[in-house]
Amino acid sequence: MQVFRDSKLLRQFLQLQNTEGKSVGFVPTMGSLHPGHISLVKHALQENDLVVVSIFVNPTQFNNAEDLHKYPRTPEKDLKLLEENGCQVAFLPDVNEMYPEEVASRDFDLGGFDEGMEGAHRPGHFDGVATVVMCLFSMVEPNRAYFGEKDYQQLLIIKHLSGQLHPEITIVPHPIERSPEGLALSSRNRRLSNERKKESLAIFNALEWAQNNYNQLSPAAIQTHVNDMLKNSAVTPEYVAIADAENLKTITEWEEAKHARLFVAGHLEGVRLIDNILLF
Ligand code: AMP
Repeated sequence: MQVFRDSKLLRQFLQLQNTEGKSVGFVPTMGSLHPGHISLVKHALQENDLVVVSIFVNPTQFNNAEDLHKYPRTPEKDLKLLEENGCQVAFLPDVNEMYPEEVASRDFDLGGFDEGMEGAHRPGHFDGVATVVMCLFSMVEPNRAYFGEKDYQQLLIIKHLSGQLHPEITIVPHPIERSPEGLALSSRNRRLSNERKKESLAIFNALEWAQNNYNQLSPAAIQTHVNDMLKNSAVTPEYVAIADAENLKTITEWEEAKHARLFVAGHLEGVRLIDNILLF
């Protein structure tokens, strides 16, 4: 596996691969890799000749300094895991490489996809995500880029933005990878004790309950019940939302959407967890 920290050297290497006609799949990450990330890498390996994984804990997407500080960082383990799983290129830029002038987000038109949920609860988060992903797209120039449905709102924002700024890149969604019990895999789960991991299953249980029962009740009643289920667990809900899976607009009647998703954010032992599920 080739490891780059310098974007110019990365570009030189990738341009050479390009002249040899190799297709490039790209998986942007913040590291502390887990089997959810690796399944994106495997997905990319199936569809491309070469896979590039970036590892960069992007400061501009954290709206909370403590969260940035506590974000787990395991670069050596990550590189080993990537190599073992057949990734050919790892890109680990430092902050100066990604933000040579000022560590600040650029302004983007996020098409209104950022208005609710994570966008509303983490001001500036998606501007930071968009800034770093668009910068990485210019550096890597992949044929395809892979994003998890775990961060569903992020996936739609990147699809919208890259449709405008990098229409040559295909955005490929990847389903949520879960533990056998149902907990959505996340780097932040490392900060949960085993006992808390068990308690965190309240989120998946609530999502599953909604998936099984949505057609008996209105969206508002489902939302209230999911919120109550979480309140009666160790998880403190931050928001529960039901939205059209295509445009993320809140729905008040099921008939308003062709596909609807339920989204949850909650806190457990100081760790912020997000999850979502397709209802129909
Ligand atoms: P992160 O390192 O958290 O920024 O995640 C990097 C990419 O991996 C994003 O596209 C995430 O949506 C995706 N991802 C993280 N966890 C999961 C998971 N449990 N299932 C599917 N995709 C995931």
